Parts: sequence; structure tokens; C-alpha cells
Amino acid sequence: KSFEDAGLHPVMLENLYLCGYKRPSPIQQAVIPAILNDNEVLACAQTGTGKTAAFLIPILSKLMGKFKEVAAPRPGLGLPTGVICRAEPLIVIITPTRELALQIFDHARRLCYRTMLRPVCIFGGGYKDGEYGQDAQLNKGCDILIATPGRLIDYLNRPQFISMRRLKYAVLDEADELLSGDWEDPITRILFGGDANLDCDRKLFLCSATFPEDALITAEEYLGRDFNMIT
Ligand code: AMP
Repeated sequence: KSFEDAGLHPVMLENLYLCGYKRPSPIQQAVIPAILNDNEVLACAQTGTGKTAAFLIPILSKLMGKFKEVAAPRPGLGLPTGVICRAEPLIVIITPTRELALQIFDHARRLCYRTMLRPVCIFGGGYKDGEYGQDAQLNKGCDILIATPGRLIDYLNRPQFISMRRLKYAVLDEADELLSGDWEDPITRILFGGDANLDCDRKLFLCSATFPEDALITAEEYLGRDFNMIT
């Protein structure tokens, strides 16, 4: 199996080539077609298996086809310089630590190369304010939001910054930690809160090395009826 046969957007194929990814890893061979077919996915995968790219490649490829004309408004693309807009991400990726968030952000940036899609990373301990702070990054527009849960809740409590109105895909990376820890409440709020656009069937992807029983029960509550389980 090759990336070329998977039905990915041509720009995605070029970006994969630039990343030096020659063929899909086993987890990618399973997850890419499932996501391209609009299925929700619960994937068991260790770090190092290519799990981050497994969900980023098909989601971003789909968005490249669908949303190339309507990427988030931002200065320089139709808005006068200095105009501030609220971030309305199409994808939210939640992960427990700042290190993981930055790794996913790096992947997303490389896979979005030469597209209008704009990734932004928010995490605790980073600068919020100032010219280069997270507030400013969000105000320039955001299609792909990569976030640690605490900082995301912090922003959702200040709704002038982020709206989940356009949300199409939510990803919980290291889902076992997110689902069994103290984050269950904030995550339910992100996925099912008043601001999420429930009419536009938002897809959920969960990815983790392990799914202890309590995390699995919660995961099954969050997922729709026909999700694919990939191990
Ligand atoms: P992850 O499991 O997401 O932590 O990825 C592990 C490493 O594998 C990362 O450094 C990726 O850049 C790399 N990687 C992901 N997919 C591929 C692929 N298809 N071919 C080669 N390297 C890959």
C-alpha cells in the first residue's frame, strides 16, 4: 500500500514527499482510509508508530479539498491589517502535555505547507499576551488548534478568542490520560458544550497506547455508533 493509492489531496502527497515519508506505517494504513471514509476512530498505538501523522494526514487532506477558499480570515487575506478576529478552528487536537502539543504542531505545520490552513498551538506556561503570545496567534486566525486541556479551558472561558462554531474534527491524543484524569469535565465541555456546532456532525478520533476499562467506557460514550476500532 502506498500514499499515492490512498486517494489523498495532491498537495498532501507533495508535503509527505517533503517530509521524507515514503510509505504509510501500519497504523497509518489502517487509520487513513477509515478517516477518509468519514468514520470515527479509536486507535490503540504506541508513540513512534506514526500515530500523529495517521490522523493528521487524512484530516488535513480532506480539508485541503473542501476548505481551500474559506480558510480562517486573517490579516493580509481580505482583512485590513490590525483587524482582530476570533479563532474558529476546523480541527481541535487535545493532548496532555506541552511537549506533545509542540510535536503535533510541528507535524501539522509541515503537512499544511503551501495551503491556507493555519495551525496554532496553545499550552500552559507559554506566553498568552504580547505580540508573539498565544492571544496574538489566535487573533491572526486558526484552522487547526493544538491545545493542552487546561489552557484550552482557560481560553474557552474568554470566548472573545476562540469559537467552536466551525469545528469539524476533534482529536484526543493520549486519550487514556485525558479520559481517566481530571480532564473529563473540561473535555466534555469542549466536545458537547454550548459553543460546539452539534448540527454539523463533528467527528471524533481517539488515540492512545492503552485504553484502561474506565477510559474505554467513557470513549464509547463520546463516539458515535459506527466508530472503527483500530489496534
Ligand atoms: P509518532 O508515533 O507520531 O510519535 O511518530 C514517530 C516518528 O515517525 C515521527 O518523527 C514522524 O515524523 C515519523 N513518521 C510518521 N509517519 C512516518 C512515515 N510514514 N514514514 C516515515 N516516518 C514517519
